[in-house]
Amino acid sequence: MSEENLTLVKCKVCGKKFNGESWQTYCKDCYKKKKRSEFEEVCEEILNKKTIEKSFISALKKNPISENMSLKEKRNTIIEAFCTAVGKYEYDGEAFLDPIDWDIRDKTIEKLIEKISDRLPGIPIIRYNKEVGREILIKPREQILKEAIATGEAIKVRYYGGTTPGEERELIVREIISDKHVKCFCLRSNLEKTYFLNKMEIDGMSDDDIIDKSSSKKKNTSINKPALTKAALIIWLIILIPISISGLITPIGFLIEGKIGEFIFGSIFEALIIFAIWKIIKKLRKK
Ligand SMILES: [Zn+2]
Repeated sequence: MSEENLTLVKCKVCGKKFNGESWQTYCKDCYKKKKRSEFEEVCEEILNKKTIEKSFISALKKNPISENMSLKEKRNTIIEAFCTAVGKYEYDGEAFLDPIDWDIRDKTIEKLIEKISDRLPGIPIIRYNKEVGREILIKPREQILKEAIATGEAIKVRYYGGTTPGEERELIVREIISDKHVKCFCLRSNLEKTYFLNKMEIDGMSDDDIIDKSSSKKKNTSINKPALTKAALIIWLIILIPISISGLITPIGFLIEGKIGEFIFGSIFEALIIFAIWKIIKKLRKK
């Protein structure tokens, strides 16, 4: 392309003027966006075609994934089967070479795998993770937790509850208590706590596992803090209330007997006890 052929063209969509050929109607950015949305439409169509499901399965059966393959090899095998399946539909394969479309293609493959998983069980969902710079296996959150229990290795978790919502922490998973709660040992606080499953974001977990990012601090403090604090506070109350009652009676006796010094000392002591009781009741009411 020589410089002479280029003229100032106005983009049909955003109105930005750019140096291009006279026949061009979109600027670079708008062209990319247009291609992307076109590609998204194509992928939507692909997902609705039963014939593509069938040829995807038969392509994977012809060229199966074996256990000793690396994650990268497994992923490439799946992509290849997908391209073969779509190719039968005479789809312009070029779009699959365009890096801007890789995300959409991979998401389409993931959705397709979910659709056919009952007919071809055990087919993994593998995603290229840009941050890590390599392929990672996508699994349901519960599966990751079960494996962590089995290995005893700590996992990195972003937890959207507790006192510091959204903070990353390392946890050793102990036990899945219910379909909502999991017991873990937190390496940061050195405490065993109960966590809400739906507030846990784990590396490599499936997007289908919903994360509740709203911080419900009140609900979480009672479950994350050890139950001991509440029990300890009640015990303190049981100890302090009788002391405060006797402390109320004794100074009166001192006053009657005219022992002013003892009376003042006893009153200050009593005030301190009542203050402590008041503080404890206030804390207990918050829980
Ligand atoms: Zn534009």
